[in-house]
Amino acid sequence: MGLVPYEEARDAILSLAACGPLHPRAVERGEALGCVTSVPLHADEPVPPFANTAMDGFAVQAADTTGATADAPVRLKVVATLAAGDAPDREVGAGEAVRIMTGAPMPPGADAVVMVERTRSDDDGATVAVEAPARPGDHVRLAGDDVQAGQVVVEAFTVLGPAHLGVLASLGYRKVPVFPRPTVGVLSTGAELVDGPGPLAPGQIRDSNRPTLLALLAQSGFPAVDLGHAPDDEKAIAGALRNAVATCDAILTTGGVSVGDFDYVEAILGRLGRVQTWKLAIKPAKPLAVGVVEETVVFGLPGNPVSAMVSFELFARPALRQMAGHRDADRFRPEVEAVADEPLRRKADGKLHLVRVVAAFAADGRVHVRSAGAQGSHQLHASAQANALALVPDGEGVAAGSTVPALLLS
Ligand code: AMP
Ligand code: MG
Repeated sequence: MGLVPYEEARDAILSLAACGPLHPRAVERGEALGCVTSVPLHADEPVPPFANTAMDGFAVQAADTTGATADAPVRLKVVATLAAGDAPDREVGAGEAVRIMTGAPMPPGADAVVMVERTRSDDDGATVAVEAPARPGDHVRLAGDDVQAGQVVVEAFTVLGPAHLGVLASLGYRKVPVFPRPTVGVLSTGAELVDGPGPLAPGQIRDSNRPTLLALLAQSGFPAVDLGHAPDDEKAIAGALRNAVATCDAILTTGGVSVGDFDYVEAILGRLGRVQTWKLAIKPAKPLAVGVVEETVVFGLPGNPVSAMVSFELFARPALRQMAGHRDADRFRPEVEAVADEPLRRKADGKLHLVRVVAAFAADGRVHVRSAGAQGSHQLHASAQANALALVPDGEGVAAGSTVPALLLS
């Protein structure tokens, strides 16, 4: 039959020039969450920028507090108060203290902070009794304690998370050089498709692939363009694609990649650019066409709703992630060795079966799976209950109690 293992098709797709990382550019820091950095990012200044106190208390000369106890406190003269945001305007001399709040700069002359809990102030606040000795450096956060000027704070190819963005904000970065996320168009094809409510004419169905794929794109952080649906008409599909390649880095189509009389997508892609098709050794999602039209990669996904989702999972998302600069493009979903709580039966057919399952951690600390129900490629409702795909190898299936690799979807 010449069915191709899905890894082979995926690798061929990932090696297309049109699926390489997009040209890096600087994006607003506020838009950079989840983006991948294109170069190492350096610190131009230290963080913290100045020595400051980690505690509310009193900045002192540690030597003044030697031997202080609750019974025999050392009394110091309070000469100033420093809040966070103040600039010190006075030195701390011997026998003196400055009342100081967390984050305020250390005043010159002081080398330690005594936390307020170890002190007792007199009523007018003019003096403070220190009840414990301080060592030089106590509760002082030095300039550069977190980040030194000149150091790399974020390596290239880092997926930016909230804390990375905070670090960059602390250094004054307004823009961040990243690989942009691909903009992805979604086009449904099929003469039978209609949108929205209203009575269905004979033969019609409502388009469910486009909303599903738009949601998958949103979930993966890719900006999406809704290209609507086109009938099984070469002119209409070609026209929609030709318009979309101008603004989209990638396009997902569904339907029309099988061997039916009105399956035109492969032929259209071949005419507009280049196309490669596969009959994959997987179930669901056997047919796949991938074309390149003017630098834009077009994924011709199958029309059956479960197949479209699985194809997105196995082929489109890895390619889109690679375009967005991810180095582990095909590692979006964690794969675990799960325990089958019930038999996952199948027949030998030369294919890997991607069985929609419900997965949960059990008391033994392992992931356990059971079938999510009906497994037909048109039965999206059962798949909607699934949170994992069990990868059931060719053969008779998996017995209850044995293990099976599973991709965790949530
Ligand atoms: P096709 O890949 O065009 O042969 O379509 C396979 C099956 O998927 C057919 O039953 C189609 O009616 C169905 N189908 C195709 N596109 C969609 C869609 N956008 N939403 C729901 N079902 C679809
Ligand atoms: Mg069709």
